[in-house]
Amino acid sequence: MQLAKYSMGVGDRFGREALSQLRAVMAAQARGIQVVPVWNKSNREHTIIGTEPADVRDEVTAAVMAAGYYGEYHVDADHIGLGNVDWFMEASDFFTLDVADFTGKPAAQADIDAFIARHRDLLDTPIAIDGLAAPMTVTEAEARQIAAKFLLAVQEAGKLYRHIEQAKGGADALIAEVSMDETDLPQRPTDMLFILAAIADEGIPAQTIAPKFSGRFNKGVDYVGDLAQFEREFNEDLAVIAYAVKRFALPKNLKLSVHSGSDKFSIYPIMNKAIKRFGAGLHLKTAGTTWLEELIGLAEAGGSGLAIAKKIYAAAYGRFDELRKPYATVIDIDWNKLPAPEEVNNWTTEAFTGALRHDQKCPLYNRHFRQMLHVAFKVAAELGTEYLNALKEHEAAVARNVSVNILERHILPVFG
Ligand SMILES: [Zn+2]
Repeated sequence: MQLAKYSMGVGDRFGREALSQLRAVMAAQARGIQVVPVWNKSNREHTIIGTEPADVRDEVTAAVMAAGYYGEYHVDADHIGLGNVDWFMEASDFFTLDVADFTGKPAAQADIDAFIARHRDLLDTPIAIDGLAAPMTVTEAEARQIAAKFLLAVQEAGKLYRHIEQAKGGADALIAEVSMDETDLPQRPTDMLFILAAIADEGIPAQTIAPKFSGRFNKGVDYVGDLAQFEREFNEDLAVIAYAVKRFALPKNLKLSVHSGSDKFSIYPIMNKAIKRFGAGLHLKTAGTTWLEELIGLAEAGGSGLAIAKKIYAAAYGRFDELRKPYATVIDIDWNKLPAPEEVNNWTTEAFTGALRHDQKCPLYNRHFRQMLHVAFKVAAELGTEYLNALKEHEAAVARNVSVNILERHILPVFG
């Protein structure tokens, strides 16, 4: 199974927006932007909401039929490991092999020695890579350090991949991504070269690789970091991947996967320019901001819709510590910048949607309020049918916001 050049991972916490998401993709395709949708939902998300991988597959199948969509699409077992992959096996055809927990832990010394011996031709000699300003030179000592940080993780990815391949009945039945983004160790382009060498050694036909870039990728808000450095690293990664595909005979469509945590608007133009420059593919994975578009749609509808959006905020405000805990490393909320529920309860539709919608030019926008609601989906999940009925009642406003967000704020800036 081969993943298209441009693909986008979309999340849908409550399983109600696949059709609106698909419509955004189809609108892009109609404009000649051939981006393919991948529905991703992690183990963590399923556990918090109480859904199952099969629910995602069912929802997506229904959306595809309802829209009359004949193009490519996938369902991603997002951030899985050996401990939980079996649950996802049947419903998924895309697997994000998350081996971040194994980074920073050294492999067996004999394995590191064998890896170094196998790749001696890459060491202590300038490697000319198209697209890099200067040849890359890596000493044996540096390569050993890289191996000590990442070889064990790639070995684990190999075990996980082989387990899935066997269960799915062969390599053609799946798309494999190797992900190391949820770690404290950013991977530089030199790391990338040796990680890809190790992936080839393990025989993993990876079609996407998700490194950790430098800078902060907080959930649902913009990138925080040095844009010039990101641009350099991103371009160098593209160059290294193109080189590694040829040198190590990796799948020709191997591409970067950016686990964006959604809405990294300031780096979107950088990525757009770079993939055009290299003719490279890209997988852009976004997180749960579709759920925030649901809230915006509800608030926009006013009346009972606005009331339930306020109710969810008030409950979330009271459970700040509990709700942010599973996301501690990827959110950054200043408690003092959160409006009190008593204040929010007096807000108009414009005040609520202005604070929540990710429009950094809007003076009402409050990224703390937005992040608080981003992690508040547990509150909505606990409301159960009350929340789902509200979505149904205000379907048109919700659908409009979900589609416009994906098409105009994500697909067009990144792939257009
Ligand atoms: Zn990720």
